[in-house]
Amino acid sequence: MSHDRFFRREMTRRDFLWLSGIAGAAVTLPQLTGCATDPITGQQVLVGMSEQDELGIDRKHSPQQFSADYGAVQDPELNRYVNEVERSLAKNTHRPDVPYNARVVNANYINAYTFPGGSMACTRGILLDMDSEDELAALLGHETGHVNARHSAKQAGRGMIAQAGAMAVNVAVAMSDYRGAAPLANIASQVGASALLAGYSRNDERQADALGLDYMTRAGYNPDGMVNLMDMLRSQHKEKPSLLQTMFSSHPMSDERYDTAQREATDAYGSYRGKALSRERYMDHTASLRRLAPAIKAQQEGESLMAKKSLDEAESRFDKALKVAPDDYCGNVLMGKCLLAQKEYANADRHFSRASEIYPGEGQAIYQRGVSKLALGRGPEALAAFNAYDQVLPGNATTLFLKGVAYETMQDKRAASQHYAAYIRSGQKDAQAQFAFQRLQAWGMVK
Ligand SMILES: [Zn+2]
Repeated sequence: MSHDRFFRREMTRRDFLWLSGIAGAAVTLPQLTGCATDPITGQQVLVGMSEQDELGIDRKHSPQQFSADYGAVQDPELNRYVNEVERSLAKNTHRPDVPYNARVVNANYINAYTFPGGSMACTRGILLDMDSEDELAALLGHETGHVNARHSAKQAGRGMIAQAGAMAVNVAVAMSDYRGAAPLANIASQVGASALLAGYSRNDERQADALGLDYMTRAGYNPDGMVNLMDMLRSQHKEKPSLLQTMFSSHPMSDERYDTAQREATDAYGSYRGKALSRERYMDHTASLRRLAPAIKAQQEGESLMAKKSLDEAESRFDKALKVAPDDYCGNVLMGKCLLAQKEYANADRHFSRASEIYPGEGQAIYQRGVSKLALGRGPEALAAFNAYDQVLPGNATTLFLKGVAYETMQDKRAASQHYAAYIRSGQKDAQAQFAFQRLQAWGMVK
């Protein structure tokens, strides 16, 4: 039996889940212990990484995460607008020299997050649910608060205490907000996201809210933006009771955060409250997104259905979304993933290729195209896709494994074993590593 037939026969749905999962990487930090001056309080605090390390984490990991969220939206005006709002806040923060940068990512779920060096994203899903620039400023202000209070570095510092003597500290490199509110369903990208993005403590959340309110009012925004944002998040949770359980386990404070925003906006920031909310400017800048709203909504439904493994129904929602917006990158990738899960490899491949035409250079479609080519037994094309993916998003060890599989379908045992060995050497201990090891054993290359 040829290798590719063997491979295809053995390919199960479960294999596909891990084949198509973008690996989430835990960061191994150099041995860093140290005290730093807390930018907010001026006191000495233990941090697990230097400011240089923070920037390094952004460089290394933020491109992977943005790609897991389907890349920045292909609307340069919208990205520039969101980044300008962020920059207007950044000037008056405790750490004005951090290279803050913000973008909108194509993901549909409701989320915003930042890396420790100031690389931020908000999803198009959350943008669609807000209705003034003041809310956007509140959202970004909160993320900016996390950066300023160095919450990731402090968490890493706490990790060092917890694992005193350990050689390396695994630290959540970026931490996520509002994830519980999301119609989370995207199997592949969420595997990556959840590994990369951990949660903040309640105290960190409270501090980020307080700092966010401070920064946004300093930049001239109305504190009601924070109140409205919290109200929106709170009612989102209530409208979607099926998501409440996740929400309460990961983010049990929506009422408290709303009440605090309301109280602070009245008491501490009451004098900033007179200014009119910037609704029109926000609506103008997000008009392109609003036109896509029916497609985004259908995709959200499809993602929820996929999470429940109702693949047929999910497919019909993605189909509906593509009828509204045939050239939507995210819509094509989602449809491709849904078809992949149903083993409709050729159709899946068509959607991934279409997605790559729509958004050349965005990694996820290239990666998924490699997976669908692999499933179709087209080793050379799969290999080309994974090589292209490595160019766009270097450093994802999973492609080492997948290239090994591709070489195997091409009967190139030598190249396959080299890639399997490299994958194991990269420190992975997952199902793929086990598979790779078994192959090396079967070929007599390890005992
Ligand atoms: Zn937060």
